[in-house]
Amino acid sequence: TPRKVLSWLTDNLLLILTIFGVLLGILIGFLARFADYGEDAIMLVSFPGDILMRMLKMLILPLIISSMISGLAQLDPKSSGKMGSYALSYYFATTMLAAVVGIILVCSIHPGDPSIKEEVGSGTEDKSVSTLDAFLDLIRNMFPENLLQACFQQVETVYLEEKAKPSFIRTTMNTSNDTYFDNFTQVVDVRHLQYKDGTNVLGLIIFCIAFGIICGQVGQEGEIMVNFFIILNEIIMRIVVLVMWYSPFGIMSLIIGKIMSIKDLALTAQQLGFYMLTVITGLVIHAMITLPLIYFIFTRKNPLTFFRGMLQAWVTALGTASSAATLPITFRCLEENNNIDKRVTRFILPIGATVNMDGTALYEAVAALFIAQMNGISLSVGQIIAVSLTATAASIGAASVPSAGLVTMLLVLSAVGLPTNDISMIVAVDWLLDRIRTSINVLGDAFGAGIVDHLCKKELEKIDAEHARLEMEIA
Ligand code: ASP
Repeated sequence: TPRKVLSWLTDNLLLILTIFGVLLGILIGFLARFADYGEDAIMLVSFPGDILMRMLKMLILPLIISSMISGLAQLDPKSSGKMGSYALSYYFATTMLAAVVGIILVCSIHPGDPSIKEEVGSGTEDKSVSTLDAFLDLIRNMFPENLLQACFQQVETVYLEEKAKPSFIRTTMNTSNDTYFDNFTQVVDVRHLQYKDGTNVLGLIIFCIAFGIICGQVGQEGEIMVNFFIILNEIIMRIVVLVMWYSPFGIMSLIIGKIMSIKDLALTAQQLGFYMLTVITGLVIHAMITLPLIYFIFTRKNPLTFFRGMLQAWVTALGTASSAATLPITFRCLEENNNIDKRVTRFILPIGATVNMDGTALYEAVAALFIAQMNGISLSVGQIIAVSLTATAASIGAASVPSAGLVTMLLVLSAVGLPTNDISMIVAVDWLLDRIRTSINVLGDAFGAGIVDHLCKKELEKIDAEHARLEMEIA
């Protein structure tokens, strides 16, 4: 009935607007390419999107801190331990699976061919990166020397040299920091690139875990602190709602700006078509088969309904290419649409958004083997296993910001002795692959929260019952 249609429309207004924004963005972006425009025009159309990114990023820090501390303080150490170990096992298993799917695909499709390398060209120098140091850096970051500094670590060094062949020099406006590969291709030093997004999120998370657990243990006096973070979290989530209503417009602008700023669309599609096809096929398999299947096996619930609840977050990830920027929306979708317990989302999601990146792992495995194929290098089984392991590690180490996966890919390449300068070749299409893999990263986090919520339901109900009993006693 029309009435039902109308109520469905109003219920889903935001989602409809967002999808509409994406479609309109693609349309306008491609139409605009026919026009003659300069940097200024791109800067102007991308401006609303830039503001959206800034608003989302602004929320990340208070959101992560308040959600982790309030979430953990409301759990007892036993349940948080259980939840944490479920989540980490899920993260590790699904990320590995994604990398393996990528490897199988890249070996069967075989998109890399030495002739591509001739056509496309690559950087000249090849500086080696110490794998050990990169690994240790991942752990070092977990323990920031200075908490305040970890909140706004700045980029101090230039990591990339201008050594690209002209076809690879894309003009950049440097409006936001998501374009650090655009003008450069030669990677000089992989260290510190973790800090590129301005915050050492992993380090903050580790501190918040300790703080949250102990906060919940302090007893009566600790309650004021716990309540503080609970209320802070509530407030931030309300600001998130405001930003969400702006997001359709912002996402549209991001997409128009991106499409308008790409040079040589047809050429790169031609050269790297099969490579992109391999990555995208892998990502689709992961999102449509692997993740839903795992979700169904554990929960016996309909994965489609779950996905439907996550649509808003998924589209936001496509628009922003950053799982951290999408995090506020992921929270809302899980809690409001999929009814996931807030204690689960608060504890699990910030960790998931930071370390669990299935799409990135798959992408890195495919890209590494693609580079090997292009150089005519055939890898041994041992080396392929090393690729899957390092791709998993590299996805954990990647920050949740646009194109971060490209940076940590050096780890994968140098671990099996592949030329690291060849990254320059795949930079051209990263604007597209980045957003698709990011949307899969977000989905992976979401399904993980759904599974952990299901597995810990009883535990959480017990805590609730205990609370109710205590309150009765006091009354
Ligand atoms: N942009 C991705 C994310 O935020 C990371 C990556 O570059 O793979 O999840």
